[in-house]
Amino acid sequence: LSVGLPSEKESSTRENNVAKIKVVVRKRPLNKKEVARKEEDIVTVCDSAYLAVHEPKLKVDLTAYVEKHEFCFDAVLDEHVTNDEVYHVTVEPIIPIIFQRTKATCFAYGQTGSGKTFTMQPLPLRAVEDLVRLLHHPTYRNQRFKLWLSFFEIYGGKLFDLLSDRKKLCMREDGRQQVCIVGLQEFEVSDVQIVKEYIERGNAARSTGSTGANEESSRSHAILQLVVKKHSEIKDSRRNNDGNEVKSGKVVGKISFIDLAGSERGADTTDNDRQTRIEGAEINKSLLALKECIRALDNDQIHIPFRGSKLTEVLRDSFVGNSRTVMISCISPNSGSCEHTLNTLRYADRVK
Ligand code: ADP
Ligand code: MG
Repeated sequence: LSVGLPSEKESSTRENNVAKIKVVVRKRPLNKKEVARKEEDIVTVCDSAYLAVHEPKLKVDLTAYVEKHEFCFDAVLDEHVTNDEVYHVTVEPIIPIIFQRTKATCFAYGQTGSGKTFTMQPLPLRAVEDLVRLLHHPTYRNQRFKLWLSFFEIYGGKLFDLLSDRKKLCMREDGRQQVCIVGLQEFEVSDVQIVKEYIERGNAARSTGSTGANEESSRSHAILQLVVKKHSEIKDSRRNNDGNEVKSGKVVGKISFIDLAGSERGADTTDNDRQTRIEGAEINKSLLALKECIRALDNDQIHIPFRGSKLTEVLRDSFVGNSRTVMISCISPNSGSCEHTLNTLRYADRVK
């Protein structure tokens, strides 16, 4: 699976061919614990676009189903689909148009434990591989394009740099509706190995909670951005105090990978712990705002309701102009997750 560079003529058609919004569902396999508990797989992937959820008749007879829910999406990926194939379906088609002023976002949505991080982590690695290949392509080789990476987190409505000791960041908008995150560290990347290290470092720095499996990352949104910038010769030769290159340069295009907070956390609004309640309310607000923004985009609405949350405000410039959005909804197959799975599918259904 490699990314070819479209010719000038092809590229305009190809650009139009990449759907503005794509909603994909990924089902993970039953895990050992679920198998040990004799839980059933209630999700059937009917074909590459359809799936059905068989809601079990709880407590009475697990084999007798009361209700069948069917859904249709742009793509449905079953438990046998590899991460490479996920990349192929979701991100790969967008890569060439990043060089043509596209701002893209790729979200992983779903309950904690449904496979968001498993799905999201390898995607930027593959993307860097392909972006770097394009940087070296004769078409772009002499254009002084460079690739930059940043990785931050939104936790309780606040921004933290995951590659800079969780430094607290703030957001500002310039007059031209460009979002600027003040102080966010950006690193130039030219090979995959270094990106792997940044991702590991960033993930290790994610918010740590108190109890339970996967608790650490489930209450925050992690955002990894890859930005292609065009640098002018003069600025490129300047160095700052650290000896690093001055990171001016004009944004050509970018892609953001967003590992969203566990969707079930939005319901933590009645928890005994005040902090948990505040975080839950913030997550709920941001996931609702995200849905509204994507829907507004899909309807070509002029007014996009960014202001609804920090998440959508930060991503504001990726929702206007030449944007592309991929939503990967991750679902667990086990009967015990039925309600969360249906909630996730309904959310994804509303987005489309
Ligand atoms: P989340 O980030 O949504 O909380 P994770 O990505 O951490 O969930 O996944 C939970 C567990 O399930 C992890 O141990 C992960 O390795 C495993 N897992 C998730 N998706 C898959 C998959 N498609 N195939 C195999 N294992 C998976
Ligand atoms: Mg996770």
